[in-house]
Amino acid sequence: MTDRYAVIGNPIAHSKSPQIHAQFAAQTGQDLQYEKLLAPLDGFAATADQFRAAGGKGANVTVPFKLDAARYATRLTPAAQQAGAVNTLIFHAAEVVGDNTDGIGLVRDLTHNLQQLLRGRRILLLGAGGAARGVLQPLLDEKPAALVLANRTLAKALELAALFQQKTPTQMRPCGFAELAGQSFDVVVNATASSLQDEAPPLPAGVYAPGALAYDLMYAPQPTAFMRAAQAAGAARVCDGLGMLVEQAAQSFYLWRGVRPDTAPVLVALRAA
Ligand code: NDP
Repeated sequence: MTDRYAVIGNPIAHSKSPQIHAQFAAQTGQDLQYEKLLAPLDGFAATADQFRAAGGKGANVTVPFKLDAARYATRLTPAAQQAGAVNTLIFHAAEVVGDNTDGIGLVRDLTHNLQQLLRGRRILLLGAGGAARGVLQPLLDEKPAALVLANRTLAKALELAALFQQKTPTQMRPCGFAELAGQSFDVVVNATASSLQDEAPPLPAGVYAPGALAYDLMYAPQPTAFMRAAQAAGAARVCDGLGMLVEQAAQSFYLWRGVRPDTAPVLVALRAA
């Protein structure tokens, strides 16, 4: 019997996850089917229940249901607890395990695909929403020299930093964008939703150290507003979050199937498409 998986979201038509998982399955010879499920905004649990009853073995969860998925799970992994959100569900007979693979996906894209060293480097993380929270601990685990957390609403950066500071020896500093004046960074990660509005966070001049990488979690066929602003401000390399999407999917695939797919050809195919 072909095992069934799905991505649940609203909207969901745009999702690239079915393409990605179909390529992983073909490449590794796994017998599975992966579909898109549009859940009503107030109907995540009902959609997940229905899918499980029909034999679903696991699901990815995307906007706006990552918190619903955390409530739906009967057990959360440490990554999901730290992130406060779930993007991967594993359905066992009586148990629903909730995990979060976004942070692993980002770090793997940065360190493996982009060959960006994080250890001992100065990282600037922009944003304090769900995505920033999900990637914070995996970034800290790489032991950067410093991690500055800047957000438009300072209170949210302070709150997020307080949640994580006691668990890391890395010096973490929360601030607003204006307070970044006079500081420079080797890696700047945009985890705000600004590029969705075709805007870039207002960063002071000089935040990009020589050789710096600017990374936008958002992806689009054209360079995002953040990527364009970073290039103009002197970032040596700019990249969008498509690699993160593929890497978080690969980690989900591994959790479900116990097999690690090769992400490189899948990323190449997605970029070409
Ligand atoms: P949230 O709504 O939880 O958080 C939004 C964050 O963006 C807040 O920090 C908010 O600041 C900030 N923000 C919004 N608009 C602006 C702006 N115009 N200027 C500056 N800051 C702004 O969103 P998520 O954290 O869930 O998602 C953030 C981004 O990450 C999205 O673009 C999403 O597509 C992307 N993402 C990509 C993934 C991938 O696999 N590549 C995975 C997950 C997310 P404030 O607190 O002041 O409101």
